[in-house]
Formats: sequence, structure tokens, C-alpha cells
Amino acid sequence: MLALSSCTPPPDAPSRPPSGPQSAASPQTTPPTSLLVTGGTIVTMDPAGAILEGGTLLVEGDRIAAVLPTGAPLPPDFPRPSAAATIDATGQLVIPGLVNTHGHAAMSLLRGLADDLPLLTWLKDHIFPAEAALVAPDFVYQGTLLSAVEMLKSGTTTFADMYYFRDEMARAAIDAGIRAVTGPHVIGFPTPDFASPEESLAGAADFMERYRDHPTIVPAVAAHALYTTPLEAVAAAFELAERYDAPFQIHALEDPTENAQSIERSGMGVIDALESIGALRPGTVLAHSVYLTDDEIARIAATGAGMAHNPQSNMKLGVARASPVAQALAAGIPVGLGTDGPASNNDLDLFDEMDAAAKLAKFATGDPSVLPAETVFRMATMGGARVLDLHDRIGSLESGKRADIVLVDTRRAGLTPLYRVYSHLVYAVRGSDVTTVIVNGRIVVRDRQVLTVDEDAVMANAREFATRVRDVVENRGSGN
Ligand SMILES: [Zn+2]
Repeated sequence: MLALSSCTPPPDAPSRPPSGPQSAASPQTTPPTSLLVTGGTIVTMDPAGAILEGGTLLVEGDRIAAVLPTGAPLPPDFPRPSAAATIDATGQLVIPGLVNTHGHAAMSLLRGLADDLPLLTWLKDHIFPAEAALVAPDFVYQGTLLSAVEMLKSGTTTFADMYYFRDEMARAAIDAGIRAVTGPHVIGFPTPDFASPEESLAGAADFMERYRDHPTIVPAVAAHALYTTPLEAVAAAFELAERYDAPFQIHALEDPTENAQSIERSGMGVIDALESIGALRPGTVLAHSVYLTDDEIARIAATGAGMAHNPQSNMKLGVARASPVAQALAAGIPVGLGTDGPASNNDLDLFDEMDAAAKLAKFATGDPSVLPAETVFRMATMGGARVLDLHDRIGSLESGKRADIVLVDTRRAGLTPLYRVYSHLVYAVRGSDVTTVIVNGRIVVRDRQVLTVDEDAVMANAREFATRVRDVVENRGSGN
């Protein structure tokens, strides 16, 4: 759930100029010419589900050049990488980078501010005032950067984001070296960055233009939800996404009252309304999709639109029903996993989310065979890539795809012995087992250390923001 700030824009906070594609040319984002990952168990997530013990991954530039089985010689023309660019993955699982299909990264600065409350109390008494007083470019940059560090260190290489100050979201993702699906966002009332949906969209094409060929930013358009945003504004946002053949994100049917609110606004329920403007198509991300009927599942499946399943956020906010994920998958709907915002989860560890997704489905149906481990791991990789319409680029370890690669160390008591990799990946691995992360051919985490940004400084900035957050909350509590 994204908090909804109905506030006047705050004064501009200090901010560095927005990043653009020119960042790609900086030494930080230039991948090494070649990389070798050897000796690990490669979990490819290719269509055949191949798992190669002791295989080798060859990376050239930003792409996977080859996936070699055990003992296969390197191609004679493959440029020999330096020792620093050779990664020994012995004892580790080599998996595709995980894909987080829904969240609001900057809200990490509000994590743990308030929990265990009814949604509206949580929003109105805690999150709204904090956002109204604090959300500004530097807040979004620092919060997104903090989340990017957390995501990278727990194996996420792509995240879809929906928040304010789009250029700051993109700049933080670029600085951290993580792939981000992000961009313009509309909602039916004033936000910290724009007074109206029209104002937000007025300059939005510029963002889409600047990032359309960026190596790690996928420009995308978001509309908050049909219960907060007029259908005309949702349609205008979708048109922008269509113009750029970009992903389109929207919250849909997280709450049982959403259909009634949508009918009140436009005379149509959520899925009907989205259908009426043609917004159901591949690359449209329906975040949550809990309250779907069988008929709606069939209709969505016919369009190619995808679902972002956020089991932990749903459970924590007391959504009293599990999203019908197994039915959606059976109908052919692409389904990925999402963490939702860090203030409503409260972590960004997709391994944790996989565990929760598998167990919630079994608990809700009373059937332990629902959502087996391999299915859930596919949701966190290729499924998520398909939801974001990026499956030709990411989601599996196959020749020609972008080199988004994660190494998971299984040499610890809780992961020993290892019989079935999918079982461990879904039920036993934690984000802290991730040792190495490669995004777009560039090593961004090695030996559990983030190489792109100063993690201590990022955390120090977050603690400084916490002081401001506490001031806001305390002043409000005393009636000021
Ligand atoms: Zn959300």
C-alpha cells in the first residue's frame, strides 16, 4: 500500500541535478568486458528448467555470452577475464537476479514508524503527516538508495517502483547499480511533487524520452489506483505508457471496497474500467489483485496483463483473503512477487517473500500441493520478468540475456545438506545468504559488500532523516 499524501508541495529540498542516460558513460556503470562464474550450481530457469552442477557462466559486456555445462571448455575466442573478474562459485547456487514487481522504495525511511494498526489510522495519523512534512527530492533519493542497498544485498536485481520525484528514484537506482522499472506516477490529488495528475503528466514524456535507451532504467508509467484517481487520468497515464511501449503499474483490488469506489467514480468496477480504456495488455502490472472473480481471472488471462503478488504486505495489513495466485497461473496470467513498500512489509527480502507466498497459498486453501517451490521460484524470476514485459532481457540465465546474476552460499548449517535446490531457495535461503550480485554485467555486490555506494554513509543519512521524522511525529502528538 502506498501512502497517499494529500499535502501541499514542500519547499524544494537540496538536490543534485537529475541523472540521465549520460550516467551510463560513467566509469561506475561501465561493465567489465568479460566475467566468468565457475564451479557453482547454475539454476538457469530456462524453459527446460536446466540445473547445471559445476557449470560455467560467461559474461561479455552486459550480456550472458554462454552457459556451459560441467567440464566444457571455454570458447577459444572468449576474452580471458582477469582474476578479479573470475568468480569462484564453489558451494554456491548461481541464480537469475530476483525481480521485485511492486514497491515504494523510498518508504524505507518510514519503516517501523507505525505498525499493527488499522490501515486508515496508520495512514492518517502516522504516514500522511510524515510524508507531508518530509517527502522531497532528498528524501526520495536517500530512501530509494537505502532500499536499493537492501535489495541488492538480498539478491534482487530488478525492482518496479511507484513513488514521487521520479528523477530521484532513477538517480538512486543508477547510483546503486540496480535495474529499476520506474517513472511518472499519477494520483487524484496533490502530491509532494505535483499539484495534479495533469501536471505530473505534462512533463512526463521528457522522463520517458531520456531513459528509453538507458541500460538499467526501464521507464514506466504508474497510476495509483482507480479508487484514488479519476479514470480519465488513469487513461492518460496509460496512453503515455502505450506511446513508449512501457510497463504500466496500478494497484488493483487490494481491498474489497475498491470495486464499489470505482463504480461510484466511473460506473464500472476495477477490471471493467481498465478494460474500457484498453489498459489490460502485456506489461500492465496489477498490484495485489486479491479480490478477483473467476470471470475476471479468465478475462485478464486473455489480455496478457500480469499480477504482482505481495503476500506479506497483504497479511500484515490484514487483507483477509489470499490472492488467487494458483488459479491465475493456471489460467495463464503472468504472476510475479512484490514486497510492497518497506513500511507495510517491513523488509525487501524476496527470499522471505517466496517463503510467505508458498505458505500463504497452502494455508488459505488447505492444500499443501498448491504453489510448489519451483513454481514460486519461477514467480520470483521469469514470472516477474514476464509481468514487467522484460522476459526477453532478464529472468533467466540464458545466452543473450542481460547478465543479472546472484550467488547464494549454501555452506551453512541451515542449508546443509542440499537435496532439491528449489526447496532450499524458497523455504530455507535468506537474503543474507547472498554473497555476490551482478547487474547488467557489472559486479555490484561481492563478498556481501556493496561496491557501488558507501553503505555506512547511506545508513548514516537514513538515521539523520529519522531525527526529522521523529520531530514531525512528536510535534503532531503534542497537538502542534
Ligand atoms: Zn503498493
